[in-house]
Amino acid sequence: MILLGAPGSGKGTQGAWLSRRLGIPCLSTGEILRGEAKRNTPAGFRLRQLLATGALVDDETVCAVVGARLRREPPVRGVIFDGFPRTLQQAEFLDGLLSELGLPRPIAIHLDVSADGLLRRLSGRRQCAACGEVYNLSSRPSSRGSRCEKDGGALIQRDDDTEEVILRRLQEFESYSAPLIEYYEGVGYRRIAADREPKVVSEELLEIVEPAAFDPRSEVLLEGRAAFSGAA
Ligand code: AMP
Repeated sequence: MILLGAPGSGKGTQGAWLSRRLGIPCLSTGEILRGEAKRNTPAGFRLRQLLATGALVDDETVCAVVGARLRREPPVRGVIFDGFPRTLQQAEFLDGLLSELGLPRPIAIHLDVSADGLLRRLSGRRQCAACGEVYNLSSRPSSRGSRCEKDGGALIQRDDDTEEVILRRLQEFESYSAPLIEYYEGVGYRRIAADREPKVVSEELLEIVEPAAFDPRSEVLLEGRAAFSGAA
C-alpha cells in the first residue's frame, strides 16, 4: 500500500504504526535517502545538498533504490510505501516492478491535512538522532524533554524542517500530487482526513487496509480491494 500525503501529513508516523500492527515492512524513501546522504562520498555530499533544499531527488536514483530493496527482499505479506511514488514516472516504475515480482497493484491512501496544520506539525517536529523516533513539540512531546523516550538519544530538527525549506517541500507536493492521485483513482484510492488525532487516523487506516493485509496473492486481498475500490 502507498501512503500519499504532503510532508507533515503523518505518513512516517502512520506507516511505522501500521508496520508494527500488521507485521509488514514500511519502506520510507526519505529515510533511505537521508541514510545515503550521511555517507562521506561525493554522491553522499551531493545528496545532502539537494535534500537541504527540499527539492525532489531524480526519479532514476529513487527508483533504483526502491528496485534494489524490493528485489533483494520481495514482500511476502505486503509492504507499506511512505513517500514513494512521488511522480508519475515513479508510479509507472512501481507498477512494472510489482508485476515483475508477481504482486498486485497497490492501494493508495491519501493522508489529507490543511496547509496550516502541515506548517504547525513540520515546524514542531523533532526526531531522535539515534533511533529516528518522531516527536512533536505540541502534539507529541517527549516525556524526557529534549531526549528520546526510548533510548535517550538527542532530539533534533531535520535540516529540511526549517520554514523556508518547508514551503518549498509543500510546493513540490502540490505540483506532483494531482497527476499521481489521478493515476491511482479508480484502482484503489482513498482520501482520509488526517488533521485528527493520530490514534483516530490509525484506526481508520486499519479498517481500510486490514482486509488487504494477508497474503497479497490471496482471495482475501482481492475481496478487500474490491470493497475498498467501491468505497472510494
Ligand atoms: P520525506 O522524508 O518523505 O519527507 O522525504 C524527504 C526528502 O527526500 C524529500 O524532500 C525529497 O528530497 C527526498 N525524497 C523522498 N522520497 C522521494 C521520492 N519518492 N522522490 C523524490 N525525492 C524523494
